[in-house]
Amino acid sequence: MEKKKKDKVESDIMTHDQNPYEIVKDLLKESVSRLGLHENIYHLLKKPTRVFEVSIPVRMDDGRIENFTGYRSQHLDILGPTKGGIRFHPAVNLDEVKALSVWMSLKSAIIDLPLGGGKGGVIVDPEKLSERELEVLSRNYIKSITPIIGPQKDIPAPDVNTNPKVMGWMIDEFDQLRGYNIPGMLTGKPVVLGGSLGRLEATGRGVVFTIREACKVLGIDLGEATAAIQGFGNVGSMTAKFLHELGVKIVAVTDAKGGIYKEDGLDIPDLLAFTNKGENYASNYEKAEPINNEEMFALPVDILIPAAVENQITKETAPNIKAKILAEAANGPTTPDGDEILEEKGIFVIPDILCNAGGVTVSYFEWVQNNMNYYWKVDEINQQLEEKMLAGFEKVIKMREEKDCRMRDAAYMVGISHLVKAMDARGWIG
Ligand code: GLU
Repeated sequence: MEKKKKDKVESDIMTHDQNPYEIVKDLLKESVSRLGLHENIYHLLKKPTRVFEVSIPVRMDDGRIENFTGYRSQHLDILGPTKGGIRFHPAVNLDEVKALSVWMSLKSAIIDLPLGGGKGGVIVDPEKLSERELEVLSRNYIKSITPIIGPQKDIPAPDVNTNPKVMGWMIDEFDQLRGYNIPGMLTGKPVVLGGSLGRLEATGRGVVFTIREACKVLGIDLGEATAAIQGFGNVGSMTAKFLHELGVKIVAVTDAKGGIYKEDGLDIPDLLAFTNKGENYASNYEKAEPINNEEMFALPVDILIPAAVENQITKETAPNIKAKILAEAANGPTTPDGDEILEEKGIFVIPDILCNAGGVTVSYFEWVQNNMNYYWKVDEINQQLEEKMLAGFEKVIKMREEKDCRMRDAAYMVGISHLVKAMDARGWIG
């Protein structure tokens, strides 16, 4: 009862400008019209094909049964099976999951992957669960969505607060239910279970490829550049690692518990060694000064990287941003009013659906390897990732020039144009 009340409040407090599904619908509508397409295309694109809500009973350590709520949204499967991560977070709600599934369709379309968009989520704060409770929740969630997933239907993967370990539990449950091994049913698995080399690093690596290209466009020398990162989970930490390898000075990092700042640049290998040990948060690292998100957003850095959750760059935070590049490693970090301010300030935005598409790209490679049961070397994977990210970046830049618009609008238009081609080839149009 208590929980139900809380969920209701969570979605009720979202205004139009904070609701990712409203945001994505507005952006789709605008891009469809900018491309001169019929409004019907917008109606075809805006609604997920299938949305699933599940209740997931879990026997807690104290003997009580708690009934969690989960979702899976399958946006569009015209290019291939739907694909996208599973998020465990207290703020998960149906509209968020729907928006995230639309973004997955657009990412795959921009990168030219034969995949559609999907996304799942469970309303839970995983920090409050024991390891056993988390395992049971993971197994029971995948069991509850088993009828609608599969390697040719819809392929889950990690997202916020889920990782290869969670994927390992989920695939074990799915294999037991089906009675045989089906490695291609999800991606981001441990390598020993058919996961791909390079998948863990893929999103961060892809983010850094796009930053490198943006720096070329703006004439910024990476060896002289500074950066700040919000979020130090898989994506934030890997982005830090690869940026550091390119000589970028990372002066600040924040996470769910706080943040750290060092004017001369943080020692990223040392910080990674620290966070890789046990359950250490980056913000507990002692060889730096404390900083909060607001202060970090206002730092005079060249590159600012939101790598956490939605709605961080807002009308409150955007006015203080001094960065030249905003690289959206997270999904949906910028609200529409935040976006307007970024535009006025002439900040070069690498939009989420391009910036963080490296994750699903290597997930695609993982799925291909699973399907042929033959595994590639990591160099091959990284090289193909680079090619795909660069091709996507170039398409978006070209569209931006052609339409004289923002990078975000250009990315939407590239994605939508590709989806429209598939709709047309299927006889859906005209
Ligand atoms: N959760 C990641 C994303 O938002 C990866 C999805 C996948 O690998 O399928 O792109």
